[in-house]
Amino acid sequence: MDSRDRRLGLDRAISRRDFLNGVGVAIGASLLPACGKRGDPIADVPTSYYPPAETGMRGSHPGSFEVAHATVRGQHWSAEKTDEHYDLVVVGAGLSGLSAAYVYRRDVDPNARILVLDNHDDFGGHAKRNEFTLDGRTFIGYGGTMFMEAPKTYPATAKQVVRELGIDTDRHGDFYHEGLFASHGVGRVSFFDKETFGADYLASGEHGFGESIGDAPLSASAKAELARLFADEEDYLAGMTPAERRAVLEAHSWRDYLEKFAGVGEEGLAFVQKWPHGVWAIGADALPAWMAWNEGYPGFAGMDLDYGDENGSEVDDGGFYFPDGNASIARLLVRALVPAAAPGDSMEDIVTARFDYSELDQPENLTRIRLSSTVVDLRHQGGEFDADVDVTYVSGDKGRTVTANKVVWAGYHSMLPHVCPDVPGDQVAALNSSVRAPLVYTNVLIRNWRSLVELGLRRAYCPGSFFQTVMLTHPVSMDDYRFSQSPDEPVILHLQYIPLAPGLPAPQQFRVGRQALLETSFETFERNVRDQLGRMLGPGGFVPARDIAGITVNRWAHGYAYSVDAESGDVAWWPEWWRHERRPWVDARQRVGNIAFAGIDAASNAMTEAAIEEAHRAVHSLTTEAAGEAT
Ligand SMILES: Cc1cc2nc3c(=O)[nH]c(=O)nc-3n(C[C@H](O)[C@H](O)[C@H](O)COP(=O)(O)OP(=O)(O)OC[C@H]3O[C@@H](n4cnc5c(N)ncnc54)[C@H](O)[C@@H]3O)c2cc1C
Repeated sequence: MDSRDRRLGLDRAISRRDFLNGVGVAIGASLLPACGKRGDPIADVPTSYYPPAETGMRGSHPGSFEVAHATVRGQHWSAEKTDEHYDLVVVGAGLSGLSAAYVYRRDVDPNARILVLDNHDDFGGHAKRNEFTLDGRTFIGYGGTMFMEAPKTYPATAKQVVRELGIDTDRHGDFYHEGLFASHGVGRVSFFDKETFGADYLASGEHGFGESIGDAPLSASAKAELARLFADEEDYLAGMTPAERRAVLEAHSWRDYLEKFAGVGEEGLAFVQKWPHGVWAIGADALPAWMAWNEGYPGFAGMDLDYGDENGSEVDDGGFYFPDGNASIARLLVRALVPAAAPGDSMEDIVTARFDYSELDQPENLTRIRLSSTVVDLRHQGGEFDADVDVTYVSGDKGRTVTANKVVWAGYHSMLPHVCPDVPGDQVAALNSSVRAPLVYTNVLIRNWRSLVELGLRRAYCPGSFFQTVMLTHPVSMDDYRFSQSPDEPVILHLQYIPLAPGLPAPQQFRVGRQALLETSFETFERNVRDQLGRMLGPGGFVPARDIAGITVNRWAHGYAYSVDAESGDVAWWPEWWRHERRPWVDARQRVGNIAFAGIDAASNAMTEAAIEEAHRAVHSLTTEAAGEAT
């Protein structure tokens, strides 16, 4: 640690050092004692075990993925055969796996004995809750899934689950402090960094193109190009028919389109490169131009593309936010499945409910949720597709085999061929068509947000910096939980980082980015947090060494789910916009004997509603006579 690190505060004691340098001291399996208070060798978790309060490296935390990676590389595990038998075993305690358990109990058998297995030390998958405590007060943030976007457009199956859990999305206005940020004069800004643009500069205005862009470190021509682009009045394909326009948009990335047709130069292109990161986890170089048009990104004035109703038809109903994002949905599902795990009965009190994790895996539960357990083998007994299924998982360094009448796999598709020898060859290819984009959501607790008010910053787009987005978390109060109303109070900042390798096709970018992500230490994240916040907010009075009170890095190596067509190489960014007849994710999700497939890979759609809908489809596919009937 050099003097610069010390100035940034890397030596300060804050809430982040549960993991030394991001490795080693993993909670979860390693904390679980060998024998429990109730005499069950696996059921005992101390009541103090409360993973949402862990800080440091979370998401795919150390200890969660090593067994899976070794399995994919070919490692075999010896396992003790237990006498545990379940009606249903669910692999994955994300929103899809938890929904599968819920729907099975609701629609198939209310008395079913169910085991849910997950490799993480917490349930929820991407829907992850982060908590910080400072001076006796708890601050809640979203470590992944941020909100329910457009819940009115959810498919009926997902709407029903949401409603049954007691979530009333019409009450958004009761909890979301609409006018809070405006009353403090904070809004959208852009931050130009000196490594990319030659000088550090914060430009205010909706897209950083207010009057202050006049002083931004850009050439006069780049300023003029960007001003023209974001004014979005020019038709760059004037004179072309709708069919010709479509052909142009379908043949170019957004970046190439802007370069060739809108005359945007290198500086302007550097500015827009990370524009789509937060929504699609890909940059302008690999985002198809027609998607950019669909998203309402600039550069497409006058486009009449004759796409019919296919595009732009989604109703924007504003979304619904819990303070911990959709982790509250996961918590509501868990409370429904294991009532003893949490008190309360409303969507409000789930926010403040202190979960008792020691209740999740008790032998007397109808549903048991077993964390820190990676499924490494899945096969029908005797190779007979109507027989029970042996499910082997590894927890700590111990393998155990349980049996089940039925299994729902709500984990990653691409892992399944390494785990389940029963999957037919052509389905293996379809399962392998699923790719995952890596993402990192970092939460930083700061002691006050006076510097943001001073600078007018609610959300910053940072095209050249490590974190492309820095923003105040959504201002939501529910039950007794109050969002900081005054800039003098602590608040959580949300920072996004999408590791990619621009220039390569998207699936390769995801692979390269994921590898780089797993090699990035917590210390590197912390240094970047401190350096970037110091440079952006310093002019407003922010001092990283003094003002940062906690850091949690949520590393999602396997984030958004997309299917890739093997023949064309096309990525199914959004299934409703898919133009090929082949739908690899549908081929991939066909039931194999007593094993059905849920999860977002099964939809090529990472959204919460898809996770729930796929759970419903998978459960109901298990109730049909023959495999493959309900797709
Ligand atoms: C950073 C981020 C932000 C997001 N924001 C939003 C948002 O705002 N709104 C929205 O609607 N959607 C959002 N999403 C999409 C989100 O993926 C879905 O909402 C949903 O949570 C996915 O649920 P899932 O259960 O299918 O997958 P996951 O959440 O990935 O859960 C699958 C679980 O299975 C586990 N697993 C996999 N293999 C095994 C195995 N072999 N053994 C045991 N366990 C295994 C995984 O580790 C994981 O815990 C976001 C996603 C990310 C990554």
